[in-house]
Amino acid sequence: MYIYNSASRKKEEFIPHTEGKVKMYTCGPTVYHYAHIGNLRTYIMEDVLEKYLRFSGYDVTRVMNITDVGHLTSDGDTGDDKMLKGAKREHKTVMEIAKFYTDAFFADCAKLNIKTPDVVEPATHCIDEFIKVITALLEKGYAYEAGGNIYFDTSKLDKYYIFNDFTEDDLEVGVRDGVEADGNKRNKADFVLWFTKSKFDDQELKWESPWGVGYPGWHIECSCISMKHLGEYLDIHCGGIDNQFPHHTNEIAQSEAFLGHPWCRYWFHVHHLNTDDGKMSKSKGEFLTVSLLEEKGYDPLVYRFFCLQSHYRKNLTFSWENLDNAKGAYEKLVSRIVPLLDGKGGAVDEAKYGELIKGFKDAMDGDINSAQAITAVYDVLKSDADSATKLKAIADMDTVLGVGLIAAAGKAAEKKDGELPEEIKELAEKRAAARKAKDFALADELRAKITEMGYIVEETRQGTVIRKA
Ligand code: AMP
Ligand code: ZN
Repeated sequence: MYIYNSASRKKEEFIPHTEGKVKMYTCGPTVYHYAHIGNLRTYIMEDVLEKYLRFSGYDVTRVMNITDVGHLTSDGDTGDDKMLKGAKREHKTVMEIAKFYTDAFFADCAKLNIKTPDVVEPATHCIDEFIKVITALLEKGYAYEAGGNIYFDTSKLDKYYIFNDFTEDDLEVGVRDGVEADGNKRNKADFVLWFTKSKFDDQELKWESPWGVGYPGWHIECSCISMKHLGEYLDIHCGGIDNQFPHHTNEIAQSEAFLGHPWCRYWFHVHHLNTDDGKMSKSKGEFLTVSLLEEKGYDPLVYRFFCLQSHYRKNLTFSWENLDNAKGAYEKLVSRIVPLLDGKGGAVDEAKYGELIKGFKDAMDGDINSAQAITAVYDVLKSDADSATKLKAIADMDTVLGVGLIAAAGKAAEKKDGELPEEIKELAEKRAAARKAKDFALADELRAKITEMGYIVEETRQGTVIRKA
């Protein structure tokens, strides 16, 4: 398998540190507001990467942080604290905001068929870890105290800029009008590890530390949460392309300074989803959320399909027209799968299956080419294989693509068969009630009755599907 490594800036063969095992870290959301569908493009593509690694036989452990403290409105050390802004906007506490939007984030992920990582850790749960690592960085001479804050000293590194060939002068570009440069910094690129009194007086969440009451910078949380759960060697670190600088650059600086050896081998960055008029925003224009897609009648999995139609290393433009095109293509694809459902459970031609799945693997092994992987699904439909073999190939591909093709085909078949007879509906309702009451013997009995009457009962992620046999 080859993936593009943003750190080496080329496609490389993927070889994990320990054979057969993959340690994967993902920068999680800043939970001050709903995620927009741009944020979710990144999580969808990371989910596809994770699922393909598992499909390829790797034992994957994936960790994600939840940023509930320390992320300022700029990705550097300037602007307001995003969490505090969110709390003020809604007249709630920071912790109330964090809980609400963390739950909302995972509800959106579930709708998009994004698996929850094995470990999800809020930054506020790891203050002791941050203090431990910052203390070690001070002892090793990589950090200094100025004006009450603790800074990382980037001049101590041989190579600080990893993903781009920036110089200190380029940093001027990032400084917005009206934001004062921090006079405490020895070098322009230095960044805050721990804030104390110099920042906001109204900061709600503060902790005791050896340097005074304060709170951590944003970058330190990802280094510490990753090392806490995944140890000293990380295989893949993911995030949106905007995270390359300064966030991931700073993560590498502090992690490697702390560990004394290279830390993460592969960096996977997803390019942005933009609108026709530019960047996606949570405050200006239409706030594009999963709920908005649903309100407008789109299945969230159609949005996932739309994302998969483009390579993750290309910018993608969102418009309702583009989404309609994806919807049309998705529905057509599903309708072509419906006739294959008759082959369910039939004997699979293993040789043919191997041929069909190869096209999919080649696409995914070539830097997670999801668009080409969808073409491989169409190739299955065009092939001369029997229905059972085709169905198995598509179902297996969909464990990675995650667009619910088989379940959607089941639903479409149900519609095609027209309304279910009243008798079947009644039996189905009774069966649902029996399952809810955990009376599985009765539920099985009712299922048998439905089957006897010539109908098939299937459990899918989208619920129970009943269709004519
Ligand atoms: P945040 O909640 O701001 O920390 O961002 C969550 C994730 O979304 C990060 O990995 C960002 O890099 C990513 N992201 C932010 N904006 C976009 C966008 N327009 N398109 C794709 N990913 C984005
Ligand atoms: Zn991060």
